[in-house]
Amino acid sequence: MADCIFCKIVEGSMPSEKVYEDDAVLAFKDIHAQAPVHLLVIPKRHIPSVREIGEEEGALMGRIFAVINQLAKEHGLADRGFRIVNNCGEEGGQTVHHIHFHLLGGRALTWPPG
Ligand code: C5P
Repeated sequence: MADCIFCKIVEGSMPSEKVYEDDAVLAFKDIHAQAPVHLLVIPKRHIPSVREIGEEEGALMGRIFAVINQLAKEHGLADRGFRIVNNCGEEGGQTVHHIHFHLLGGRALTWPPG
């Protein structure tokens, strides 16, 4: 999508610090890190939010979670524990409308979120 920041990151017209890429999935460092490790994992295809996820996206979601698991291991989070966050829609706190999963870790995270 022309005016989507994350589509621009996928295309390479917007810079990002990539940590993983394959044909369908991209992961990069969040520019406003909220924890020592704060990565964003996104599908390359523009999907606005979880509200557009159906069974047809099952394989893609499985790939995304496998990538999250791999990144958690690579960043030393697997044994310590970590958090996966998806913000959906206005009251869910979503600011970029291209579905993304935050991988947060490297410190003791508190609960509940604000
Ligand atoms: O879940 P939410 O939509 O609020 O998250 C968007 C995230 O994208 C924010 O954490 C923001 O820091 C990050 N971001 C980024 N690089 C950009 C624009 C936003 O890492 N160029």
